[in-house]
Amino acid sequence: MSSLNSPRECVLVAGGAGFLGSHLCRRLLHEGHHVTCVDNFLTGRLHNIASMADHPNFLMLRHDVIEPLRCDIRPTQIYNLACPASPRHYQADPVHTLRTCVDGAFNLLEFARQSGARILQASTSEVYGDPHVHPQPEEYRGNVNVVGPRSCYDEGKRCAETLFLDYGRQNDVHTKIARIFNTFGPSMAQGDGRVVSNFIVQVLTGERMTVYGDGSQTRALCYVDDMIEGLMRLMNSADDFRGPVNLGSPRESTILNIAYRIRRLVGSDVPIEFLPLPADDPVRRCPDITVARHHLDWEPKTDLDTGLKKTIAYFSELMADVSNSHAA
Ligand code: NAD
Ligand code: UDP
Repeated sequence: MSSLNSPRECVLVAGGAGFLGSHLCRRLLHEGHHVTCVDNFLTGRLHNIASMADHPNFLMLRHDVIEPLRCDIRPTQIYNLACPASPRHYQADPVHTLRTCVDGAFNLLEFARQSGARILQASTSEVYGDPHVHPQPEEYRGNVNVVGPRSCYDEGKRCAETLFLDYGRQNDVHTKIARIFNTFGPSMAQGDGRVVSNFIVQVLTGERMTVYGDGSQTRALCYVDDMIEGLMRLMNSADDFRGPVNLGSPRESTILNIAYRIRRLVGSDVPIEFLPLPADDPVRRCPDITVARHHLDWEPKTDLDTGLKKTIAYFSELMADVSNSHAA
């Protein structure tokens, strides 16, 4: 099955000006769909959607999803990606993050019911918290701190999953849930504190690389194009398959290994500085993607170095543009 074979749809992407959302909007437009991007620009940027702004099939609505969505558009598909994803941003206003997760999900589900659209929730590996089972299969129930600094996001996303399932059943709305694991690529925001963007920018600017803890904690990094393919396959999957389904790379690396890789790929020898590990930072994380392989015929295709090289090229160009504009 390929997402390329889907009929022409009218698609609403909430969070479409963010990192994943802007890639998704671009891919959908490329495939001939009509796209409405809904975003409050909390962490999204006009820069991410600038290349689509004049496209005849693209519409941008500035809106906060914690408020009900009232507009004339009748989408056939809704992707709910609206939520800050980086700890730095989702911890800045935890109550708003929770409301975005829960009220935002509710408002978009209501809109899906009114429109007759199917709706996909961008959930997260954070629903597993600091996992005791490794790698994490979908049936693992997780180890989440209810009252920690990451809880507004983790518990908000867990509640949104429950809401998606219950609302879908009670109101006959077709829901899908993707549990997204760490994803990286061009258009990540430079200052949002995520590991790949931090390390690349630090190496390119000759700063020390900030490794939290001793760097032995693990993550499995998925390249953005693979993630978008997975999300679209899930949206267009069989009616009786609703998830939750893990989407991510099954290849786990330590954070220190990721730091060394990025340094090697840039050809730099900047020093590494070890800083305290943030509270509740998961020790190991890696998805079991058996379900995605089976139901979506999906697995990531891009190897880590190839993805990192593309991301390094993006940030190099971005920083060259900035220094040229300062010089002008
Ligand atoms: P991002 O911060 O780049 O994008 C989120 C977008 O949502 C931004 O454009 C932001 O302005 C918008 N937004 C936030 N709150 C909103 C609100 N209340 N109303 C309207 N718009 C709002 O993050 P991303 O990495 O693109 O993540 C997209 C989605 O995928 C998020 O839901 C996130 O939880 C999920 N996810 C991402 C990752 C990852 O590694 N990138 C991992 C797990 C889950
Ligand atoms: N991390 C790090 N240095 C940084 C940014 C992040 O060592 O400059 C670590 C962080 O502590 C975590 C991992 O990298 O263990 C992934 O962090 P990120 O914020 O990208 O994602 P998440 O913690 O949400 O998986």
